[in-house]
Amino acid sequence: MSRGEPSSASRRYVISVFLIQGLAGLLLMSALTWLRKDQTAEILRTLGGNAPVLIAIFVIFATTLALLKFEMTDLVYVAFVIVAYMAMFPLLGAVLASWLAVAVSIGTRLLSLHQIGPAKTARQDPVTDYVKAFGLFGTYGVPVVVGATVYEYLGGTFPVLQATPLNAARLIAGGAALIAANALFMFWPQRAYGYSLSKIRNLSLMDCAISLVALPYAVVTSLSYGTIGWGGVIALAFTGSVANYIARNLALTRSKSHDLLQRLASLTNIGKTISLRFTTDELLMAIYTECKAVIDCSLFSIALLEETTGELSFELDVREGAMLPKERLRLGEGLNSWVIEHHQPLLIGSTAEEQRFGVKSVADTKPTESWLGVPMIARDRVVGVIAVESYKKNAFTADDLILLTAIANQAAVAIENAHLYRDLEGLTYALEQRVMERTNELRETNLRLLAADRSKNQFLANMSHELRTPLNSIIGFSSVLIEATRGLLQPRLHRFLENIHTAGNHLLELINDILDLSKIEAGKMELRADLFDLRETIAAVERVMRGFASEAKVQIVASIDANVPDVRLDEGRLKQILFNLLSNAVKFSPQGGVVAISCGFVAAGASPLGFDTVRIDVTDQGIGIPADELQRIFDEFYQTEDGRRARKGGTGLGLSLTRNFVELHHGRIDVQSRPGVGSTFTLYLPVDYIEASADDTIEVPALQDAGSPTARV
Ligand code: ADP
Repeated sequence: MSRGEPSSASRRYVISVFLIQGLAGLLLMSALTWLRKDQTAEILRTLGGNAPVLIAIFVIFATTLALLKFEMTDLVYVAFVIVAYMAMFPLLGAVLASWLAVAVSIGTRLLSLHQIGPAKTARQDPVTDYVKAFGLFGTYGVPVVVGATVYEYLGGTFPVLQATPLNAARLIAGGAALIAANALFMFWPQRAYGYSLSKIRNLSLMDCAISLVALPYAVVTSLSYGTIGWGGVIALAFTGSVANYIARNLALTRSKSHDLLQRLASLTNIGKTISLRFTTDELLMAIYTECKAVIDCSLFSIALLEETTGELSFELDVREGAMLPKERLRLGEGLNSWVIEHHQPLLIGSTAEEQRFGVKSVADTKPTESWLGVPMIARDRVVGVIAVESYKKNAFTADDLILLTAIANQAAVAIENAHLYRDLEGLTYALEQRVMERTNELRETNLRLLAADRSKNQFLANMSHELRTPLNSIIGFSSVLIEATRGLLQPRLHRFLENIHTAGNHLLELINDILDLSKIEAGKMELRADLFDLRETIAAVERVMRGFASEAKVQIVASIDANVPDVRLDEGRLKQILFNLLSNAVKFSPQGGVVAISCGFVAAGASPLGFDTVRIDVTDQGIGIPADELQRIFDEFYQTEDGRRARKGGTGLGLSLTRNFVELHHGRIDVQSRPGVGSTFTLYLPVDYIEASADDTIEVPALQDAGSPTARV
């Protein structure tokens, strides 16, 4: 029912300690037997026909107590047998008592090793087991000899036949010496087991205390022979056994209720403990630790079911404290598979019972007797099995089954959660990888786009420059020709010349616009800061525009407030802005329409820019702009539906350039318009562009809605 090879690093040490002690005891007892053969013969002669009966009583009494010890906790068992050995030596002498004590000890130990009767011991390996039995010559034989010697040294006789206070005192001293010698002789074996010094001290104190309490009983037993004959010894031996049996039951009941309480506490604790573990290995270890605290077992395993492969994977396999490597079993083999297939716990008390069940365990190097396995069920699905095993027969009870089932159910949920958590981690990792890959791709694309954009701007700049040179010749020469041939050419041919001149100018404007835009995009557009009189600039622009307006039968009206100060702006770019706005206003106005340009001063406190500002409005009574297109007219190449239908030409670059120039000045442009009624473009420009540039952090507050659709750019 288990796997793995038992091996212990301290095995050789344990063997040598027991071997030395056993040999010492055997040699001492053999020497004593030889030296005290006369004394032994004398004792047997004095006891006469009582001797065999007395020896039989002592053997039965000691054996009963020695067998009882195997059902007791480690702490109390030693004391029981020692009571019997203490009662023996005053009547039988050092030689007979020590041989009987060793015979009883070795005999019961061999019974326990072969799991006979109530005596059952966890077996390790045969050599160590038998050497340990041999070691009993030291741990029991020598103390009995020591006790008898101290008693004799104090003037005690063998066999003691008189119940006097002095004899009682001698017996007490001899018994105490036996107890002390036993404690001393147990020291090295306990060290070899790996017990700490403090644990040995506590164990020895406990043993000695229990033995000392039983000492008067041993004394009375010995002395009773002298007073009432061996019938008294039988009676006392019987009373002693019964008393011990009752004591044992009391101790067992107490330790059981203590166990139950501890199990209850563990159970309430276990859910919390295991739910805090997020990796499966940590979780399995936590489940193992919790189970170990409440169920006494030699082997422990957790097998998880892998549905895809139909295999049982032993994720945790602990044998006598040693971790075994992970193993896999095909479903259908062994007891674990039975539990999975039947969705039921399985409790087997012995290998014989296992055969009765008709379930076969997996072949093993060192088979165990008891096996308890419970299914781990989460959401009505069996996810695995928790199994415990023991070398003792009937090691597990129905209580253990209930407890392990409760633990397994909590463990199943926790394992499911751990798996979900692991999957989630995997997904998160995959997602992070994807995001990283995409980010890298985007970064590369971005770099490529930037490079392409730089090439485009460079190309535009080069091309515009190359086009402008021949174009200037065309415009210049056509202008000269127009003047020189006035009245000489047929009017039709003269108009052709004028068309060449106009088209050339138009082309030049377009090229200049494109060049400006590409400069702005490349971040290479720089403004000049000229200090100039804004009224004059507006008047100059108005004068130029007047000719164009009168051709379109549109009137331009300018009004400039008296408090408009001189401004420090790029005058050339401002003129470009005003030409754009005015030419659009004229272009989209009906014949007879009025285009108004007005200019005023706005002090810093009232200005949306946060500093002293000039405000210029260009208002027309033209076709207007639908609300949903107000934002878009500032995009490059964008023209409204109505604008295109009006067939007024244009490129869709003017407003885009205008917006860029305004923003370069740290200003702002808004538009309000109503289709069929007209439009107003409002410019806010700082009085001093240099000052505005120095304070880039100024926030631009939103303007109040004037009642008609507005776009702020
Ligand atoms: P365009 O060279 O086409 O005039 P703009 O960038 O100056 O280019 O203007 C973009 C578009 O905005 C125009 O085509 C027109 O549809 C619309 N628009 C501009 N100004 C006005 C206006 N005052 N009235 C009506 N529509 C206008």
